[in-house]
Amino acid sequence: SGKWGRAVAMVREFEEQCGTPIAKLRQVADAMDVEMHAGLASEGGSKLKMLITFVDNLPSGILPLVGHRLLCCIAYRDEKGIFYALDLGGTNFRTLRVHLGGKEKGVVNLESEEVSIPPHLMTGSSQELFDFIADKLAKFVSSEPEEFHPPPGRQRELGFTFSFPVRQTSIASGTLIKWTKGFNIENAVGEDVVAELTKSFEKIGLDMRVAALVNDTVGTVARARFSNPDVIAGVILGTGTNAAYVERAHAIPKWHGLLPKSGEMVINMEWGNFRSSYLPVTEYDQALDSDSLNPGEQVFEKMISGMYLGDIVRRVLLKMAEEADFFGDTVSPKLRIPFILRTPDMSAMHLDTSSDLRVVGNKLKDILEINNTSLKMRKIVVELCDIVATRGARLSAAGIFGILKKIGRDTVKAGEKQKSVIAVDGGLFEHYAKFKSSLESTLKELLGGEAAETIGMEHSNDGSGIGAALLAASHSQYL
Ligand code: ADP
Ligand code: MG
Repeated sequence: SGKWGRAVAMVREFEEQCGTPIAKLRQVADAMDVEMHAGLASEGGSKLKMLITFVDNLPSGILPLVGHRLLCCIAYRDEKGIFYALDLGGTNFRTLRVHLGGKEKGVVNLESEEVSIPPHLMTGSSQELFDFIADKLAKFVSSEPEEFHPPPGRQRELGFTFSFPVRQTSIASGTLIKWTKGFNIENAVGEDVVAELTKSFEKIGLDMRVAALVNDTVGTVARARFSNPDVIAGVILGTGTNAAYVERAHAIPKWHGLLPKSGEMVINMEWGNFRSSYLPVTEYDQALDSDSLNPGEQVFEKMISGMYLGDIVRRVLLKMAEEADFFGDTVSPKLRIPFILRTPDMSAMHLDTSSDLRVVGNKLKDILEINNTSLKMRKIVVELCDIVATRGARLSAAGIFGILKKIGRDTVKAGEKQKSVIAVDGGLFEHYAKFKSSLESTLKELLGGEAAETIGMEHSNDGSGIGAALLAASHSQYL
């Protein structure tokens, strides 16, 4: 019927607007490269904050290869002992106890607990949030085996992974620039998050020192570099998205402090806030943005990350239901509820290989209360998932390619076989198989044959948490 034709036309139009041909991805990567330069040149010089992390000496698990160009380190410190980490991401937070065995043994033992953050704390007051976290951490610490108790007079030390934009003032202090993802706590912006957390520790008598304040991307770099000296960047693809990479200190004009001995500094790009006229932004993205907690911000993140992908699909389906009776002549009220269709559900539908697309049918029924969908409707739903996930994955690849360009690793120099590894962590990358494979193949496509062989991607499991513990160790007041 005409209605069906209209629905199909809407899908085709959406697909076209979401298109990411390789030439466009190259433009996105070039724009990323340009913005990286601008953000490093001056404070506020770009939408990319390019934050200085005070991590200028990466953990030294494995000795660097002789003559290795980037890595300069660090045999002076041997990370050993029990360290804690707290990983506040977007959806959950994790507490970790990491037993480090130094150079030979690496991470000897790891215990962790995950707690989901009650939604009302994401938009309440900062003291409530930090009190809640301190309380859970104290409970976790109290489960510490006796053999690991610190000797009298020695404080436990913590790496605090706080995955929001922070202007650091040292390795263990920094003020919140803004919230992202689902968080919006007004009285926390501009405050030192370590001081806030420490206040909450003191209230309940938890004797713990924050030795390192770390972005999750930076933790991921640190974790991965601990076992592989070729790691040059860390990317998070989870609730949100971001990247950090190792920059030459000389290439950071806005840095007026002492040059680090290593000659290097990890930069937290905050790439979620990247924007460019080359990004394929659709009307659905614009509507998602203006309905969000942070309109006009985090444009790149809203096209890529796990918090948003499912909701883009929902918005397209809603419009198709309203304007082309896609699911029949009524529109399910559930379809109007923001974020009701989550990215893990989208991923499950996308992966459905059953001949009648049973998973898709069940998800539509259970989540959106849309019954009796036909096979051809379900096929369209899968197609929408594919369009949205593919766009996100290809844009992520373009972002990574932009970093490689910035540091001159996008091409192979004559006679050089320098390897570069990008460490990736986050639930989207880890669990959304189609997203991951599209990201990997697109990066290869961008690099081309020879260069592609020198670039690797590895999943840095638990990178953000373990990395924070490693950085706490390398900034310990005792070691
Ligand atoms: P955070 O980013 O909050 O630190 P994670 O890295 O664990 O946390 O990522 C969680 C996010 O990953 C979820 O919000 C969700 O968007 C995404 N995710 C988790 N599981 C899946 C899945 N099976 N398919 C697609 N996305 C997933
Ligand atoms: Mg995380």
